[in-house]
Amino acid sequence: MYRLIGNLSLLKQTLRSGKYTQARFVAAEKKEVPYKTLKDANSDNVASVPSRADAVVVGGGAVGCSTVYHLSKLGLSNSVLIEKDQLTAGTSWHTAGLLWRLRPNETEMLLNNITRRLMDTLEEETGVHAGFHMNGGLFIASSKERLDEYKRLKTFGECMGIESHILTPGEAQKLYPIMNKDDLVGALYSPTDGHIDPAGYCTALSRAAKLNGAQHFYPLVHTGSLYFSAGCWAPHILESVGVKLPQYTFKHSYIVTETIEGVKGMPSIRDHDLSIYLKVQGDVIQVGGYEPRPVIMDEGVPKDFAFSLFELDWDSFGVHIESACKRIPEIAETGIRSTVSGPESFTPDGSPLMGPNPHISGLFHAHGYNSGGLMLSGGSGKMLAQWVINGEPELDMFDYDIRRFNEKLLDNKTWLREQCHEHYAKHYSIHYHFDEPLGGRLAIKDALYQTLLDDGCFYQFKGGWERPGWYDKDNIAPPLPYDYYGEYGYAKNNPDPYTDRLVMDYTFDHPKQHAMIGEECLNARNSVNMFNMSYFGKFYLCGPDATKAAEWIFSNSMDKHPGTTTYTCMLNKLGGIESDLTVSVVEDDGPQAAFGVEGRSYYAAVGGGFSPYVKSRITDIIAQEKFDCQVKDLSHDMILLSIQGPKSRDILSKLCPQTDFSNESFPFSSHQLVTIGGHVVRAMRVSFIGELGWELHASNSAALDVYNTVMEVGKEFGLRNSGYRALDSLSMEKG
Ligand SMILES: Cc1cc2nc3c(=O)[nH]c(=O)nc-3n(C[C@H](O)[C@H](O)[C@H](O)COP(=O)(O)OP(=O)(O)OC[C@H]3O[C@@H](n4cnc5c(N)ncnc54)[C@H](O)[C@@H]3O)c2cc1C
Repeated sequence: MYRLIGNLSLLKQTLRSGKYTQARFVAAEKKEVPYKTLKDANSDNVASVPSRADAVVVGGGAVGCSTVYHLSKLGLSNSVLIEKDQLTAGTSWHTAGLLWRLRPNETEMLLNNITRRLMDTLEEETGVHAGFHMNGGLFIASSKERLDEYKRLKTFGECMGIESHILTPGEAQKLYPIMNKDDLVGALYSPTDGHIDPAGYCTALSRAAKLNGAQHFYPLVHTGSLYFSAGCWAPHILESVGVKLPQYTFKHSYIVTETIEGVKGMPSIRDHDLSIYLKVQGDVIQVGGYEPRPVIMDEGVPKDFAFSLFELDWDSFGVHIESACKRIPEIAETGIRSTVSGPESFTPDGSPLMGPNPHISGLFHAHGYNSGGLMLSGGSGKMLAQWVINGEPELDMFDYDIRRFNEKLLDNKTWLREQCHEHYAKHYSIHYHFDEPLGGRLAIKDALYQTLLDDGCFYQFKGGWERPGWYDKDNIAPPLPYDYYGEYGYAKNNPDPYTDRLVMDYTFDHPKQHAMIGEECLNARNSVNMFNMSYFGKFYLCGPDATKAAEWIFSNSMDKHPGTTTYTCMLNKLGGIESDLTVSVVEDDGPQAAFGVEGRSYYAAVGGGFSPYVKSRITDIIAQEKFDCQVKDLSHDMILLSIQGPKSRDILSKLCPQTDFSNESFPFSSHQLVTIGGHVVRAMRVSFIGELGWELHASNSAALDVYNTVMEVGKEFGLRNSGYRALDSLSMEKG
């Protein structure tokens, strides 16, 4: 156990002087946490190893226990949980276990809600207390924007039946009398949230699963489905079989105070503006948070690490003590009973990695929980079980689906490390709709990146690509190399025009560039715009069974003549929409030959954020149905320029005098080959914004010639560059 010499007033002074060091703490022989774990429990019911199982779950933390429980609930009695040590030995045993359902991501709220409902039923089902303490959650707002965010969360929560209340500072203090409310603007209170004791919870889950026939084992068995819920250990194990995972391990920590009189029963606090949480556990407070300089574990977690903790790194964690004392002044007069610092996995976009592996049939993922694995475990386990047993989970899990990542990024360690760091450091930041990451930028650029930047393009990060957001010719603002927010010895980028432009979007009202984006919209309605949509996925479905496969995969009929383009959906087994896309029937034309595609084939164009997922779904179907065809992925070899607006026909007619662009000769939902700037280009009559328009699909080698030629001819018609902010707005406006 660690004990602070003196009290926190002293610590505060030391922190201010910047001289705090590990030497101020005395280490006893063994680290402890002030609650029971399963460490010394007997490994009850560890039976002999079966040779077969319908499903094997690797990793006995909260997620693995919940998965095997839900599999057994859905009738899969012959499932096995493999744990290298004891249940909860990884990260779960020392978690703070907080369960807050009001989160800015819909999937997260839905899954946390499932976990919360489990808390009400598990004890009745198993006779074991699920370890839930319903002391409520209080979210602190010290700014108007934060309170605005909370009001949005409250509305969101109401749709899902989650009770919450917006409180005045005075009302908040009545719930938490020892809190300093001087800087408060308001608070959000959810009385039915609380925290989960992992030992009780995992015992209850595994007991229920065993009652339903599941078993716990150690070595290998033959199985139909393999679920990977090995937390921070997942990369070690899966990389050895060639699976690259977009997750990174960090140390995440909290301290436990000595007794604080009167705190018992008070709600736990999330003070997002101070980036801390204050969990009330009995008569102590656990103080944790998301510091700007977390300890990054570049080598991952040690393989044999079990029921273990790290020394707390005060240099990185110290900042939270200041904040905690600011919110609860009494903490400054209280000693520290213990410190808890453990490994936790984070992902580049802050969402877990779940669902089927895109390359290994039967392998399912469930890791990368970004310090929310306890509260997400109930919902995650349920979705994972449904995935295998029903073929699809009942909820839309795209945000969490491991197939969402562009494969090109998976070899890019700089992208991974930077974005994971940024997500850790900004964990409690306000979630503005148009915020963009600063880390991991410029990972994938299309052939026109620099040309459009020079025209004032403000780039967004989408699916790994840089794609145009909006344009401001007077302010060139490229994304800069990541400066880790000035931490770890990095010099902060200065000047940093990209961040200066980005903060213009830090509002829930109209941003400052609203009028500029409005001008782009008006130009598209009255004249004509160029949208660079090259981040789109561009696939040819080709081979002897291409037609059979296209008919199977796309919801619209593909029995159409070459030259047609169809806007269609891809559906899943439950009839839900997986994606929308355009599919063009092509047959033996020039560019196809250039790309090595022969015969009748189907050219699909799909939004770049979804395209890795769509490609994976199509590839799966081809394998499952044994179609003799292939997906040729040209996403990184081609550009896609969309010329939209009433004057688009004038520009194209002038550019390609041999082609008739009239409604009769070039109707909506059709495509033809044209020549622009000396290159053969596929012109496709479709629109995202409800105006007359054509897309131009060309190879990268033709990109600059095509772009420059179109822009030159377009000048007299008022052609201008435009980005996705305008495109989205225009698209919504037309419905
Ligand atoms: C300090 C701290 C505070 C936190 N607070 C919260 C909180 O308040 N709320 C919340 O929801 N989350 C919180 N979290 C996060 C949460 O604890 C984790 O996300 C969650 O425990 C992850 O559960 P898991 O089952 O995915 O992984 P783990 O619990 O790590 O389980 C993985 C298991 O896999 C086993 N394993 C590893 N290798 C193998 C192998 N080769 N074969 C078989 N088994 C193997 C390990 O022994 C381990 O038991 C916190 C995390 C930390 C570090």
